[in-house]
Amino acid sequence: MHGNPVPTPIGATVLGYPRIGARRELKRAVESYWAGRIDAGALQETARDLRAQTWAELRDGGLDSIPGNTFSFYDQVLDTATLFDAVPDRYRALELSELDTYFAMARGRDGVEPLELTKWFDTNYHYLVPEISPGTRFRLAGDKPVAEYREAAALGVRTRPVLLGPVTFLLLAKRAAGAPAGFRPLDTIDQLVERYAELLARLADEGADWVQLDEPAFAADRTDEELATLGRVYDRLTGLPSRPRLLVTGYYGELGAALPVLARTGIEALGVDLVAGASAAGQLAETGGLLDKILVLGVVDGRNVWRTDLRAALRACTALTEVGRELAVSSSCSLLHVPYDLDAETDLPGEVRARLAFARQKVAEIVLLRRALTEGEAALDAHGDTTLPAPGRDETVRSRVGALNHADYDRGAYPDRAQAQRDTLDLPAFPTTTIGSFPQTGEIRRARADLRAGRIDATAYESAMRSEISAVVARQEDYGLDVLVHGEPERNDMVQYFAEQLDGFAATEFGWVQSYGSRCVRPPILHGDVSRPAPITVEWSRYAQSLTERPVKGMLTGPVTILAWSFVRDDQPLGDTATQVALALRDEVADLERAGIRIVQVDEPALRELLPLRQRDRASYVDWSVAAFRLATAGAADATQVHTHLCYSEFADVIQAIDGLDADVTTIEAARSRMEVLADLREAGFARGVGPGVYDIHSPLVPSTADIAELLQSAAGAVPADRLWVNPDCGLKTRGYGEVEPALRSLVAAARSLREQH
Ligand code: GLN
Ligand code: ZN
Repeated sequence: MHGNPVPTPIGATVLGYPRIGARRELKRAVESYWAGRIDAGALQETARDLRAQTWAELRDGGLDSIPGNTFSFYDQVLDTATLFDAVPDRYRALELSELDTYFAMARGRDGVEPLELTKWFDTNYHYLVPEISPGTRFRLAGDKPVAEYREAAALGVRTRPVLLGPVTFLLLAKRAAGAPAGFRPLDTIDQLVERYAELLARLADEGADWVQLDEPAFAADRTDEELATLGRVYDRLTGLPSRPRLLVTGYYGELGAALPVLARTGIEALGVDLVAGASAAGQLAETGGLLDKILVLGVVDGRNVWRTDLRAALRACTALTEVGRELAVSSSCSLLHVPYDLDAETDLPGEVRARLAFARQKVAEIVLLRRALTEGEAALDAHGDTTLPAPGRDETVRSRVGALNHADYDRGAYPDRAQAQRDTLDLPAFPTTTIGSFPQTGEIRRARADLRAGRIDATAYESAMRSEISAVVARQEDYGLDVLVHGEPERNDMVQYFAEQLDGFAATEFGWVQSYGSRCVRPPILHGDVSRPAPITVEWSRYAQSLTERPVKGMLTGPVTILAWSFVRDDQPLGDTATQVALALRDEVADLERAGIRIVQVDEPALRELLPLRQRDRASYVDWSVAAFRLATAGAADATQVHTHLCYSEFADVIQAIDGLDADVTTIEAARSRMEVLADLREAGFARGVGPGVYDIHSPLVPSTADIAELLQSAAGAVPADRLWVNPDCGLKTRGYGEVEPALRSLVAAARSLREQH
């Protein structure tokens, strides 16, 4: 610890900050770079500006300790992989510049597949999965954290470099293809830790007095061996002769068994999530042995957009005064998951805005809380009104919820439904269908933009959508599909579209958050009781059905997915909110039936996403999420066929939940894992219709009839013939007709050949 005998206090801090730019400047710059419109120098310049803005903002905001290395061109896990040279050979072989190798790993290039993209814990952020093999030789290949430390220092800002911790890094990695089956990435930990040791020494040389190491993997259940590894790693790192002080954080939940392990190590500070970890505070008090450590208390929610109850947060902090050597106040996790600045929003209703805090406002809350911790609660009074207005209440919704009973969640017995549906639908064996969306062409997007900008009126927009729907219906008849869709041209996004038409939601103008790489989403804000002022999808579906004799599926987004992709009120259990959303959807299902729709699909692609990290919390999640889906769909008549669709994940942990949904037909992503999910479903006793995706729509490759027939054969071995459906593995909106048309023709041909064999 050179040069600076008096270390910076942690005091008030955040664990990380958004990096895409308040106006998505980074998104624009990287996309321009990929398109060849700007060169690497211009891209680096934008990056430097954004970093400088962030540091200035955090310093001016009054934080005592400012996180560094929070910038990323794409993803912090990928940054860590390249920093330590965990670059698979297929990218090295491309012989690109460092920057282009990095982007090749993120996006693929010249026929070389990118790293796998997967969900970051239980958030809506996605990271790139490092590939590790016994041959991986870690090397401190880059100097990003050091360079950014230096860059900030040159601007007069002392930062606390943030690194993904070595144990979490390896727990998030996967075994490289070709590595022996028994090998686990964590087997390489000792080698990796020595490279972290080198990096810490370099940061110390540079003058860094604190480094933050994030170990969120320990907010999930971990084996004894993994816990022991955690202890060993931090014993090793704290034992280094020359190093900065270490703040180790574990967020998105409680540290549980990892807490005493970290307490025993020589780390100087421990960051805990007191928002997601309901009993984290109690655990801290019980664990003890923390008197030599600074406790960095994550009391301001880094994942949601609500203002903090400052008095409650202050009480939570004060209660821990005797537990640690010193208390610091912070966000519960990085603020990466929230938009930049509430002040940029001009259209939010006042009563909603009064309850909100985005990243900048959260920094102010943290600074104020830290002050109140030393000066006493009076500091809060000086700040003004700290009471939080209550969410909007809708007594009609409340009494409807209160009157629900068991029957509202149950449909008739499946065999009776199946018979009634066979009678009304009269479908061939192995019916063919799609997941809902068809290509969102430039024309469709333009019509939507024109409507928004007032260049066309609602009537013109409607007629543009109708002609699109009629073209999509005609195409499907031509391809020979059995169950048709209207194509979803009117939907910008499967959640936003519903949020815009339900009461209880608000939309932001600039509330973008990074989902992965340059992709950002603008989640709706679910702020009050939810209800449906008018039918949402019915006219489009009715129109589509009027064009064809074949059944057209009505297409809805399920309650769990609507919650997963929104910022949701946190003043009541998620399950209560899900019930309200489900009731709105239930009315929509009823209206679709009345409009002559015989099949309704309720998509739940995010069912897996909200599954709690810890086993002990999962049963109650499955209870409420399954109940919400059933409430949304159980009003349907026996003869109405209810479909659901799931994707984006491995389903092993939610198989029982999928069965519990009680949908008549479940279409599910399966092509990439070669139908693996079917065996799991069968084992769980799942005995209704299933449509395993027979081709991967995320890839531009067009499957041949033989490709699809092969997958169908293996599916037919796992699912009885009268329950097997034939469909792609997700919606087609991101593809073009050049791929969609031949792919769907192959799909229909493969289904027909299967019919002939049976
Ligand atoms: N019905 C939606 C679509 O086809 C489903 C999207 C999804 O599963 N993510 O686009
Ligand atoms: Zn999907």
